[in-house]
This record gives sequence, structure tokens and C-alpha cells, in this order.
Amino acid sequence: MDPRLSQLLELQETLSEQREIENEYQLIPQRQDEINAILNGIEQQIEAARAKILECETEQKTRELDLQSNQDKRLKKEAQVLTIKNKKEYDASMSEIDTLDKKNQRIEARLMELMEEIEKNKKIIEEKESELEAKRNQYSGELDHLAKRADEMGAALNGAKSVSDGVIQKVNPNLYQRFARVFSMRGGLAVAPANSGHCGGCNIKLTPRLMQLVKRGQDIVQCESCHRFLYWENETLAEDDDIL
Ligand SMILES: [Zn+2]
Repeated sequence: MDPRLSQLLELQETLSEQREIENEYQLIPQRQDEINAILNGIEQQIEAARAKILECETEQKTRELDLQSNQDKRLKKEAQVLTIKNKKEYDASMSEIDTLDKKNQRIEARLMELMEEIEKNKKIIEEKESELEAKRNQYSGELDHLAKRADEMGAALNGAKSVSDGVIQKVNPNLYQRFARVFSMRGGLAVAPANSGHCGGCNIKLTPRLMQLVKRGQDIVQCESCHRFLYWENETLAEDDDIL
């Protein structure tokens, strides 16, 4: 076999290994993101419930102050009423008291709603916090494993890259460019056998002239259809194939 082709075969092998590591390595942050999204989702629900409670408590304080001030006004009015002699003034004051009572009833109803809303959200927080703890426990082992795996894969990837780089150094730069194009276009299979008279990559029937060149093994020969680099495999293997 042309030594340039053996180099390409070696390169195909090391790059495939590198690619396999890269593919697995890429899955790690994806899974980490998935898990973190689940945990963050629950945390956000807790935060939303906390914010709701805070909002209710703020309104509660304002409403309680209003209620207090209305009650004070009412007490004053009641005291005034006792001193009024004139019917018209008396009726006016009674009507003001009535208005204050109605306002206070509305405020009290709202305060009840706020209390219920606060209770409801306290319950949500309680539930979500225990759910969060359960999920954290459930995923902590996996997250530890993923972090460890990411370190290992990172080191493995660096190792594989330096092996590939070493092989690339040996290959003619022009040939490497051509190889790299086919490698990326053809899913990592850039060098293929041609023993059966067909391209081992795309399976097209090769012309007799092309087959002759492949068998001679002195030129770089590419499939006319898929552009893969073609080589002639070990004779005995080919003969065995014929028998089968
Ligand atoms: Zn082909």
C-alpha cells in the first residue's frame, strides 16, 4: 500500500477515536444542564412563592394601617354623634360612620384573602423545598459522576488530539486538506477498501481503469462518486472473500 494511504488510514483511525470521545464528552454538559434546569425550575417556584408572600405582607401592612385609621375615625365620629343636637348633622355623621363600616368590612375581607394567599404560598414553599431536597439527593450522585467523567473525558480528548496532531504532522498538508474535507463530509469514513470492484464507502462500481490504479497502489486514488480514498486490501483476505 502507498505509505501515504497507510498514513491516511492511521489518521482516520485516530480521528475516529477522537470523534467518539468528543461525542461522549459533548453529552456531559447537556445532561448537567438538564439536571440543573430541573433543580432551578423548583428553586424558581420557591422564589415565586416567597415573592408572593412578601407582596401580600406589604399589602397586609398597608390595609391594617387603613383599617386602624378608619376605626380611629369611627370612634371620633361616635363620640361626636353623642354631642350633636341637630338631626341633619346627626344623619350626616351616621352616614359617615356607615361608610367607614362598609370600608372596613371590605378591608377585613381583603385581609382574609391575603392571609389565605400567604398560607397557600407557605404550603407551596414547604412542598417545593422537600421536593428540591429529594431531587438534589436523587441527582447528587449523577452530578458528581458527570463532573468526574468530564475531567476524565477532557484529559482523554487532549490525549487523542495530540495523537491525531502527531499523525497529521506526517501527512502532506495538501493531501491532509483533501482528506479532512472527505472525512467531515462522509461521516468519518474517508479511506475505504475497493477489493470487490466496488467503492467500500458508497458501493458504486468502480471503472476498470480506477481498479487498476488502486491495485497498483502507487497513486492516491479517490472514488469518482464519493471522493473517498481507495486502497487494495490484503490479497489473501480478498481471496478468502471470493471463496465465501
Ligand atoms: Zn465511493
